[in-house]
Amino acid sequence: MNVLVTGGAGYIGSHCVRQLTAAGHQPVVLDNLVFGHREAISSKIPFYEGDLGDAALVKKVLDREKIELVMHFAAFAYVGESVDNPLKYYENNLAKPITLLKTMLGCGVTKFILSSTCSTFGIPSKLPIVEDMPQNPINPYGQSKLDLENVLKATASAHGLSFAAFRYFNAAGTAEDGSIGEDHDPETHLIPLVIEAAMGKRDSITIFGNDYPTPDGTCLRDYVHVDDLSRAHIAAIPHLAEPDQQLFYNLGTGQPHSVREVIETVEKVSGLKVPVKEGPRRPGDPPSLYADSTKAQKELNWQIQHPGLESIITTAWNWHKRHPNGYSQ
Ligand code: UDP
Repeated sequence: MNVLVTGGAGYIGSHCVRQLTAAGHQPVVLDNLVFGHREAISSKIPFYEGDLGDAALVKKVLDREKIELVMHFAAFAYVGESVDNPLKYYENNLAKPITLLKTMLGCGVTKFILSSTCSTFGIPSKLPIVEDMPQNPINPYGQSKLDLENVLKATASAHGLSFAAFRYFNAAGTAEDGSIGEDHDPETHLIPLVIEAAMGKRDSITIFGNDYPTPDGTCLRDYVHVDDLSRAHIAAIPHLAEPDQQLFYNLGTGQPHSVREVIETVEKVSGLKVPVKEGPRRPGDPPSLYADSTKAQKELNWQIQHPGLESIITTAWNWHKRHPNGYSQ
């Protein structure tokens, strides 16, 4: 199938592009390279540099490349920034995808896969988080994604759009074959920050809060390998054959790991000592988030190939060791 991947040069998008190719599909990438990296995409893959909100460009790409399905990754994802600058987030994460959907429907493209987030749940009342639990986001980032999920539902009912929305927990790790990796600027995610502290690229890692009601006092998160996430997207494609499919899946391993466990595992994998500081809680961090992914496992036959933190961190460590300056080296 010919698949347009918006944000295909970004972290999760680029991993999905590789999995699409491996599964025999033809990915086509649209990316404005604000956060994406051209180097993350093979020169054999059709690449369009441009913005999601550029309806004329999107129409041209959909027609020329005979696109049948759109996988949408192009989004802003800095929670703190979304609080400070909500309009930027609602514009990029909601208004522009609405333009994309209108353009798609105008071109007869009716299949869509959304990169959504566990942030749509906010602070859960129960754990693990199951798909049909209440969604009460606590920041504009999560709200913008939830709003887009709702737009998809209404568009499916009204116009026959078929979609799958994946709520990722903590995407982590890098390509199993070492070909591509994770390179954010600024980097805010725990695993790359801890690795950079181990390598001496940062003075230390600060633990945001050590007084949470968790076994070691630090936050628990569900780290899930980016290639496992990507494979779920591919597995969803055949389920979108009929009109008005409305599919929601939580994607995580179901295993919560603390900030301290992440630090210890980086030390184990790298053989290096991580300098650690203890700091205050980061506003808006729920103490514990982990997924129940039974639905994806049953309906999509999604099989997690990296169930453990060590396997995930090993792929990340291998990438950072070989690319200490990210894609610029
Ligand atoms: N975290 C931390 N220090 C850092 C960055 C993150 O202690 O420098 C913690 C953060 O409070 C959260 C966990 O690590 O509990 C994962 O944070 P990340 O930003 O990677 O992902 P999030 O869960 O916010 O999506």
